[in-house]
Amino acid sequence: MTRRALRGDLLDFTGLPALGDVDSPAVRFRPDHWLLIEDGRIVAVQAEAPGEDWPREDHRGRLILPGFVDTHVHCPQLDVIASYGATLLDWLQTYTFPAEQRFADPAVARAGAELFLDALLAHGTTAAVVFATVHAVSAEALFEAASVRGMRIITGKVLMDRHAPEGLRDDVEGARRDCEAQIARWHGRGRNAFAVTVRFAVTSTPEQLAMAGGLLQRHEGLYMQTHVAENLDEVRWVQELFPQARSYLDVYHQHGLLNQRSVLAHGIWLDDADRALLRDTGAHIAFCPSSNLFLGSGLFNWAEARAVGHGVSLASDVGGGTSLSMLRTLAEAYKVQALRGTRMTAWAGLHAATLGAAEALGLAHELGALEPGRLADLCVWDWASGPVAEHRDAVATGQVAPLPAQSLHARVFAWMTLADERNLRAAYVAGQPRGPQPRLIPDPV
Ligand SMILES: [Zn+2]
Repeated sequence: MTRRALRGDLLDFTGLPALGDVDSPAVRFRPDHWLLIEDGRIVAVQAEAPGEDWPREDHRGRLILPGFVDTHVHCPQLDVIASYGATLLDWLQTYTFPAEQRFADPAVARAGAELFLDALLAHGTTAAVVFATVHAVSAEALFEAASVRGMRIITGKVLMDRHAPEGLRDDVEGARRDCEAQIARWHGRGRNAFAVTVRFAVTSTPEQLAMAGGLLQRHEGLYMQTHVAENLDEVRWVQELFPQARSYLDVYHQHGLLNQRSVLAHGIWLDDADRALLRDTGAHIAFCPSSNLFLGSGLFNWAEARAVGHGVSLASDVGGGTSLSMLRTLAEAYKVQALRGTRMTAWAGLHAATLGAAEALGLAHELGALEPGRLADLCVWDWASGPVAEHRDAVATGQVAPLPAQSLHARVFAWMTLADERNLRAAYVAGQPRGPQPRLIPDPV
């Protein structure tokens, strides 16, 4: 039996915070508490120090949150992050497709998967829904590397049988065989889950979409991931390719691809009928603010999503996005919502990146909260890194006279906005340190 007791300021959520409620009752803040972990699982949270039989890791004065869940990110696109001057469709042709071709090579796929997962952990992301490439070996490499790290990973080979260059196209029957093999080998093994992965409606024939829907029907518990309504040229192209569909989203619905385990990235150019369809099928949108700004795709309307009542999680969408950091992603999310005339609290943002994502993926029993029974996927953060953030945090905590101490939301919002991977002190996956080596507070002498 392995035991570990972590001390710090614990922050998590017990419900869904309203987008603009700074005093949300769904916030649970337990300053200077102990989190007791046994065999990878949280077994208790308490104010008093545990007995001598608990090895202690003292992070007092630091923030402990559930590990972030990135619900839409592309493993092979670390090669093209921060590429200049393109919108979605030419960005795919110019940068992304050539980069993805490299992943046909098993050695590249393996090295790429390891680099990618270690990078996620170094940014405080402990679970993810990931795009590999069309090559079966690229998803296999991710499953293998995630298994070694004990991470919850949801992925699968990408389906693309048209409108993609040579070397990046599959066909219906070959793709079906590859998917079936991956489902048999990986789905439900350890913390791996298989996602039927349609790149987007443009790159799959109706026959392939039907095959993808058939996989979801035949195998209970599979995920589905894809892109939807990211960019206006893309939306127009989908309308040309599928004239019988009511909307872009409806293409997926008609092929049986929307259910409670469907994760659709972007969803910027949706109407209320689409939003109602998401709500009624239980599918949810992965909001990718940094990617949407970087590629100039548009401004996701979170308030309308909330009004209709479909789920929203947060995602980096690297390489369209410019950082794997969910904190930087949240800072961009706030700005996108500000341009929409809405203010997103730190609570709404952090919830979407932790418990909200866990609930949207049907994994709230496993991760997303600092709660007995959950696996200990969590991260320890410095409240501030660097002189500006340190000063700002001192203002928030009332250490700069004569300014009064500010609310907890003011402090956490400043942290969310100013912090990034440099604030990360330790990351634990199922109770095991997997990110930066924990640097502990020494016992007072
Ligand atoms: Zn994407």
